Amino acid sequence: MSATAASPPTGPVHWSNWAGNQQATVRQVLRPATVDELSAQLRAAADAGGRVKPVGSGHSFTDIATAPDRQLDLSALATPVTVNTGARLVTVPAGMTLRRLNALLASHRLALPNLGDIDAQTIAGAISTGTHGTGAGLPGLAGFVDSLTMVTAAGEVLHCSERQHPDVFAAARVGLGALGVLVEVTLRCVDAFVLRAAERPGTLADVRATLPELADGNDHAEFFWFPYTDRVQLRVNNRTPVDDQPLPSWRGWFDDEFMANTVLDGVCRLGRAIPGVVPTLNTLTARAAATRTYTGRSDRVFCSPRRVRFAEMEYALPRSALDPVLTALADIVDRLPHRVMLPVEVRFGAGDDSWLSPGHRQDCGYVAVHQYTGMPYEEYFQAFERVATDLGGRPHWGKLHWRTAETLAPAYPRFADFLAVRDRLDPGRVFANDYTERVLGG
Ligand SMILES: Cc1cc2nc3c(=O)[nH]c(=O)nc-3n(C[C@H](O)[C@H](O)[C@H](O)COP(=O)(O)OP(=O)(O)OC[C@H]3O[C@@H](n4cnc5c(N)ncnc54)[C@H](O)[C@@H]3O)c2cc1C
Repeated sequence: MSATAASPPTGPVHWSNWAGNQQATVRQVLRPATVDELSAQLRAAADAGGRVKPVGSGHSFTDIATAPDRQLDLSALATPVTVNTGARLVTVPAGMTLRRLNALLASHRLALPNLGDIDAQTIAGAISTGTHGTGAGLPGLAGFVDSLTMVTAAGEVLHCSERQHPDVFAAARVGLGALGVLVEVTLRCVDAFVLRAAERPGTLADVRATLPELADGNDHAEFFWFPYTDRVQLRVNNRTPVDDQPLPSWRGWFDDEFMANTVLDGVCRLGRAIPGVVPTLNTLTARAAATRTYTGRSDRVFCSPRRVRFAEMEYALPRSALDPVLTALADIVDRLPHRVMLPVEVRFGAGDDSWLSPGHRQDCGYVAVHQYTGMPYEEYFQAFERVATDLGGRPHWGKLHWRTAETLAPAYPRFADFLAVRDRLDPGRVFANDYTERVLGG
């Protein structure tokens, strides 16, 4: 990656996240080009009692990335890229997007073992919130981090791994942007691989009866349940040796661009305008869902473009809680005073050891609820949150939730250790914002 000249600090600037539900007028945007410059900016902010919030691609639904004072944009900070193909280790700037990372890895015949459903996020943003894909044997993206380099509020550069500063490493992989600024990340990769994707409609009853087989019998499995119906859309991806069934380009465009974005957006607009027709629209959408099988490069199968805007909440739950959660959700949806336009998504993941990872030491079922932009969601999400919390669920840090430090601490056995690392690295709360104050305390 070539070095890009940093622009001088700018501001004030209006900022909004991808979903459009978080807005801020940022007093100043900092765009350091070197780690030394970043250290100096952080020291100056700390000395002045100011606050700095690193931002990635703004794809979090929560106010986790909202800057109360100075926003830190790392897109010009070009640390060296190192690819060790033998060891399958790559070191990249933390502000690199997953899309660029995937292209880089592919050019070296490497890949990340798993990905979520989009690739617009930065590596730092994705790992800081516990971003994950689906795959019962695979942790979230933070679980692939071998080491990281962070600049603290005092301007100190810390290299962290299992061997160096192991406590900071355990805290900072899913660090909520609250501990310091990640500048470089070394990721454990795998040899590039091809996936065979199989998508088909089914019934919720059948899926519920075969959840363990679905989760454990496939490398990656997920399903979408359409509220007011008994219909689901199933998606499984399994490794295959050859790319022998690629989607014709017109079909990829038709399914992933036209149907999943243009048509879905039109359907959602209709449902928002005439809520009474939402159950019918959901039934029609479920019936129109495609049956298709195809092969492709792993990241191209995992990720697709998302242009339909929505609000989302997601909980990581013990897998045994999935069935009761699905029962409760059907009841919640039926009792709501408003309609639910978008499906419920269920995915799977392995536990990991990052202290604030929603998958901390627990294999999970991930359940995500969505609502089309501009439609009411609070009552729906809050009812789901009550059920998920009672069943031992932990919220995705980047997706909407109302949990506070008081209710989160019992869900995380290493919560106090995380707070101790935060007190040590950021005693002046340079990296605090309203979100960190709510979920971590002041
Ligand atoms: C359409 C869509 C699809 C999504 N799909 C998935 C999915 O499949 N799976 C999933 O788990 N999540 C998913 N998400 C959620 C998303 O992955 C997370 O919210 C992620 O954090 C967004 O990354 P970002 O680069 O936009 O970070 P931002 O939202 O900009 O920031 C997130 C956090 O990272 C911190 N941060 C950013 N850069 C740094 C840095 N250099 N150093 C320290 N902290 C930093 C910020 O301060 C903030 O706390 C999706 C979101 C959207 C909008």
